[in-house]
Formats: sequence, C-alpha cells, structure tokens
Amino acid sequence: MVALVPGEDRLDILCLGAHPDDIEIGCGGTLLELSGRDNTGVAGLVLTGGSDRAEEAVQALPRFFPGATVEVLGLPDGHLPAHWEAVKDGLETVASGCRPNVVFAPRADDAHQDHRLLGRLVSTVWRDSLILHYEIPKWDGDLRPVTHYVPVSPERARRKVELLNESFPSQVSRDWWDDEMFLGLMRIRGMECRTRYAEGFHIGKTVLDFGRPTARETDSVDRAEVQPTPVHKNGHRLPVSAS
Ligand SMILES: [Zn+2]
Repeated sequence: MVALVPGEDRLDILCLGAHPDDIEIGCGGTLLELSGRDNTGVAGLVLTGGSDRAEEAVQALPRFFPGATVEVLGLPDGHLPAHWEAVKDGLETVASGCRPNVVFAPRADDAHQDHRLLGRLVSTVWRDSLILHYEIPKWDGDLRPVTHYVPVSPERARRKVELLNESFPSQVSRDWWDDEMFLGLMRIRGMECRTRYAEGFHIGKTVLDFGRPTARETDSVDRAEVQPTPVHKNGHRLPVSAS
C-alpha cells in the first residue's frame, strides 16, 4: 500500500467536535502522531458542553497536541439540528479568522444527529480545506468503510486511551467506554491498512498533486521548464510524496 506523505509546508489544523470528547475519540491518535511534526498548529472548536464538560474539552486537546487552543460554544447537547442557524453562524464566525489546510470533523453520515449536522456543514464552510471525517463508535452501530488511514504507533495508541481516560472523567463510567473498545477499533483499522493500529477517516474529495516539483527538482531544473500544476477551484492542494 502506498503512503501519501504531506510535504514540509506549514499545516494549520482545525479540529471540530459536536461534543467535548468527539475530537479526541475520533482523531486523538492522529493528533499524537502530528505532535512531533514541525510547522504545525492545531485549534479546536467544540459546539456543545456545559461548564464541567467544556472544561474537560479545554484541558484535553493540549494533552494530545501541546499548544492547541480550544473554543467551546456551549450549544445544547443532543439538539443541534434545532439550532441549525447557531451552528452555522458559529462555524462561519470561526472561519472568518481561520483558514486551515486540514479540518477534522465527524462523518456526514454519522448516526448521531449532532455529529451528522456538523459533518454535513463543514464542507460548506471550509471549501478549500482538506476535510477528514473521523468516526465515533457508538451503540447505534454505524461504523462504515473508511477511505483513508493514519497509522498510529502502539505506544501512541495506548497513550491515546490513557489520555481519554484521564481527560474525560465524566464519561468513563459509560457502559461503552473502555480500553478494549478504543484499542479494538484502532486495531481493526490498522489491520485494514497493514499496520498494528490506525485511525480511519472518510474523505469526500482531495487533489493529489503529483506534478508539483520537489525543492530538489526545482533547484536542478531550469525554472522555465517547470509547468505549474493546475489546482481545482474548490479543492485544497496538499503536496504529497509517496513513501
Ligand atoms: Zn459526540
């Protein structure tokens, strides 16, 4: 399987969650992998959460990616579709000052109505970003095939679970919340991409910029011979190399 590796350009990443633990459950391992990358910034936006859960969200994300900032809107948990305008306005307000390269958000076909609304709106707000839709296991049983995988080292997979338990004390007593559930899903996604652990994502569309010259090629080739690569009007172009 060919891995597409982002270039060394700066990555500004926005993580969106409907609820205070969504981001860390959906892409916490990926954030731990990204925490060792240079030129990378992470910000989080959580739509719901009373004071206790909002505080958990504010404290949690920087544990996964040091320096990450978090904003919590405090909209009512479980009722986001009835607050469509407030959700849209909140996203547009953040977007007015935030043009990330990469956005993490729930799946647009998630069984939970709050996740689903956010997953559907995100691509209407950030049209030029690469949007990775993460998955959240749940009682409803809505896991579906994913299109992209981020391998997570065994150490970071276990660290993700430790941090989830430490960061969300209000949730650990739920009957579905345990180490095997989190590790098991990462193990399945890892098996699917031939590694031990991974997180899976669904990407609606992306541009593979195979024609862009590397810095080394640019140095050695007459610039007049290098043709610019067309970019889709509404697509984010993430320079990639294969490893
Ligand atoms: Zn949730």
